[in-house]
Amino acid sequence: MTNPLPTGATIGILGGGQLGRMLSVAAARLGLRTHVFEPGSTPPAADVAHAVTTAPYDDVAALTAFANAVDLVTYEFENIPTEALDVIEAITPIHPNRRALGTSQDRLVEKEFLQSIGLTVAPFADVTDAANLDAAIASVGTPAILKTRRFGYDGKGQARLKSPDDAASALADMAGAPAVLEGFIDFSIEISIIAARNPQGEVACYDPGENVHRDGILHTTTVPAKIPASLRTDAVLLAAKILNTLDYVGVMGVELFVTPRGLIVNEIAPRVHNSGHWTQNGCAVDQFEQHIRAIAGWPLGDGSRHSDVVMENLIGDDVNRVPALARETNCAIHLYGKEETKAGRKMGHINRILS
Ligand code: AMP
Repeated sequence: MTNPLPTGATIGILGGGQLGRMLSVAAARLGLRTHVFEPGSTPPAADVAHAVTTAPYDDVAALTAFANAVDLVTYEFENIPTEALDVIEAITPIHPNRRALGTSQDRLVEKEFLQSIGLTVAPFADVTDAANLDAAIASVGTPAILKTRRFGYDGKGQARLKSPDDAASALADMAGAPAVLEGFIDFSIEISIIAARNPQGEVACYDPGENVHRDGILHTTTVPAKIPASLRTDAVLLAAKILNTLDYVGVMGVELFVTPRGLIVNEIAPRVHNSGHWTQNGCAVDQFEQHIRAIAGWPLGDGSRHSDVVMENLIGDDVNRVPALARETNCAIHLYGKEETKAGRKMGHINRILS
């Protein structure tokens, strides 16, 4: 893509959750339309998108019509079936590209890629059965975490091993899925950096945020993260290296562990990221607009932060706090319009502006 997408063009989005919703709002602000493809009924993005296709990812006719109706396609989650992407890509470009998606879909491929470009990851080993789990434990040691290679999110598909005695039960938790054993990192804090790259090769990063999880789900992101300037620079440099190597176009979230030996990359997400929601109220150009700008071939916003912010997810019944939160000053509320409240379900988030 060499020419910027003109006003009135349509961006296809695979997935109609809250990320697709916030991408659609950002696109509309830039005079662009979105067309959401989502198997589920009444997805959050449907309230704000120009068009919605409700069909499963194996419906070739629906995918073909969708791809023909848009100028390019992006996605809000990484577990999209390869066959669906093949159908779409024969008709219209997909950003971020297939290599980025393939790399992040598989924890083993992801770790090997990150290591190949000189970045530090947790010690790891491929696990397919009980025999090589024993070998993996011998090389990685314990404590360790066994993770499914594919389809894990919010800490799902993971089992912790305190000692080699936990091997059998951890393997049973994988239910036969290929897995990777990771050495347990004794980190001081978790941070993430949200980075963007456009087709011209411009890269812009946001300030790293400090993440706190509860029950495996992101609870808060605080900016600025309490890290020295040198680590902030390291985070920017490693993110730029990942994006440039992948010839990436769009926004990426890079999750990092802070350790006395420096930054260790936990995982990459080839999309806008929950830990980047603070940018909506902390920056002139937020991660959603930045992603749209990048894939549309527009100049990137610079990513600088004008305020300190704490983002807090509203999970399940937390959403009942909204009337009280609405009375607070400097508290921006972002709700996803989900009809049903469920335990563990992300219903919205708030950005508290600190200064
Ligand atoms: P993940 O799904 O890989 O992002 O893991 C979810 C959470 O588990 C992370 O945010 C960390 O808090 C923790 N975790 C994952 N991998 C490791 C590891 N190798 N060492 C220590 N903690 C980890």
